[in-house]
Amino acid sequence: MSSTDFVLAIEDLTVSFDGFKAVDALNMYIDNNELRVVIGPNGAGKTTVLDLICGKTKSTSGSIKFKNKELTKLPEHEIVRAGVGRKFQTPSIYENLTVYQNLEVSYPVGRSVWGSLTFKRTPEVIEQVHKIAAEVLLTEQLQMEAALLSHGQKQWLEIGMLLMQDPELLMLDEPVAGMSAKERDQTADLLNRICKNRSVLVIEHDMEFVKKIAHKVTVLHQGKILAEGPMEKVQADEKVIEVYLGH
Ligand code: ADP
Repeated sequence: MSSTDFVLAIEDLTVSFDGFKAVDALNMYIDNNELRVVIGPNGAGKTTVLDLICGKTKSTSGSIKFKNKELTKLPEHEIVRAGVGRKFQTPSIYENLTVYQNLEVSYPVGRSVWGSLTFKRTPEVIEQVHKIAAEVLLTEQLQMEAALLSHGQKQWLEIGMLLMQDPELLMLDEPVAGMSAKERDQTADLLNRICKNRSVLVIEHDMEFVKKIAHKVTVLHQGKILAEGPMEKVQADEKVIEVYLGH
């Protein structure tokens, strides 16, 4: 397979902070409809990799191709427009708006109709809000103020807000942190559904959850890949047990 066959092809990617290589000559390839999980000890470079992909951090050298488009020189908003969505650990939702309104305002402006001051509810937007609300299990909460949602539901709402933009690559940073066991299972089902028509890249520490969702796992250590493959393979890897899973 050549790098052009992947939705995301990261090659020889390095970022140095004052001479310290947080990500060191990384090569990583993600397929269409793949759900990849990145694991590894604190400080391994996981968050930095996501920051580099979404343009929050600029690389020192190397390449990140998304659908064959080079991202490393693009500003963050153009990377979003190219189809990359990123969710951080803390949900950034509008607490005083309803679930419906949160989803509605997330519809890409270029594709919606704005009046002089108000957002016009075109049938297309309304249909999309209902479709995404069902996908993220929030149909019954559509008219509820977002502040009243449970912690897990707030996380799902933010995933829904990203889905309103129809990203082809969705990146999530510890999506089940602080969730109940039931919410974790529901999130696993949600991510398994989502990756049917997009690729998903997740950073996660909860190994039971990783086992439920990962098609492939990348283990990072000191900015480099320590192991990569199906979960059964990486969890039996002696190097991975030594630096991460054995603790
Ligand atoms: P992880 O997400 O795996 O815990 P990070 O990607 O957050 O690791 O960090 C990797 C390393 O890079 C850490 O040693 C961290 O301190 C360092 N680092 C990350 N961002 C910066 C920055 N902006 N400036 C200096 N050092 C940074």
